[in-house]
Amino acid sequence: MKLPVISKDQREIAIDCHTHIHHEDVSLIELILHCKNIGLNMLTITDFGETNNFPLYEEDRRKLEAKMGYSSERIKESAIVVYQHSDIPIFTLVRGQEIRTPQGDVLAIAPDQRVPTDRSLSYTLECMRDQGSIIIPPHPFTGIHSGIGRKNLEENLEFWDAIETFNAQNICLFPIGPLNQTQSNNQAEDFAEQYDKAKNANSDAHRQITEIARSHTYSAEQIDFTTLDRFQKTLRLALRDPTDLHEEHSSKYSFLKWAVPLYAQKIRSKFKKPRT
Ligand SMILES: [Zn+2]
Repeated sequence: MKLPVISKDQREIAIDCHTHIHHEDVSLIELILHCKNIGLNMLTITDFGETNNFPLYEEDRRKLEAKMGYSSERIKESAIVVYQHSDIPIFTLVRGQEIRTPQGDVLAIAPDQRVPTDRSLSYTLECMRDQGSIIIPPHPFTGIHSGIGRKNLEENLEFWDAIETFNAQNICLFPIGPLNQTQSNNQAEDFAEQYDKAKNANSDAHRQITEIARSHTYSAEQIDFTTLDRFQKTLRLALRDPTDLHEEHSSKYSFLKWAVPLYAQKIRSKFKKPRT
């Protein structure tokens, strides 16, 4: 099993802001041990729409003390902070959402409450901002994964805390055409440079623990865990001023493992005739 190697300055934290990890595949204890093992400090679960794994992890939290001797605390409904011996957290699990709008997808990191889905991009962004959420457009230049594209990026520049410039799932299945998504990472990077926006790298791991942190972002910002407001503000600063990015693509096998069933289902539902 190949793990992403995270060996950076101890003063920095490593963050993966974009994952679809399901509670039925990975328990909270497994998640903590895995992330501690690879050196990932913070992981955000960005469920699509109304699916909601975070409360299930919250239910696991009370087992931590009994089984592992770890203490933990909640930051309202938005994060679980885990401690081993000292006041310094060994791991933070953050609640997020990947929200589909008619214009494409946006990531909400640590919103105060759940953000409504299937509304316009402008309504969604206003709602995210009202809730103090960190806002990142994921894979903005991919057609097949519902990127929002250049026009929407440019029209909403004020909202972006960072641009996802490297998504580990943007791989090359075939060197030409839509099956080569590596160019879309380059386009996002060019856009971030053109508009002086922070760059952000994420795994976009789908239900596979080994894909967590395949790509991730480093920051030297001190995160304040005392209140949700301070947590949101310091995490925002961290993501607006990263020190480095780890950029590594997912393997074709890992990509196909989640993408084939998902797209097969999409195609089936498209061609399924409504019952009369
Ligand atoms: Zn995603």
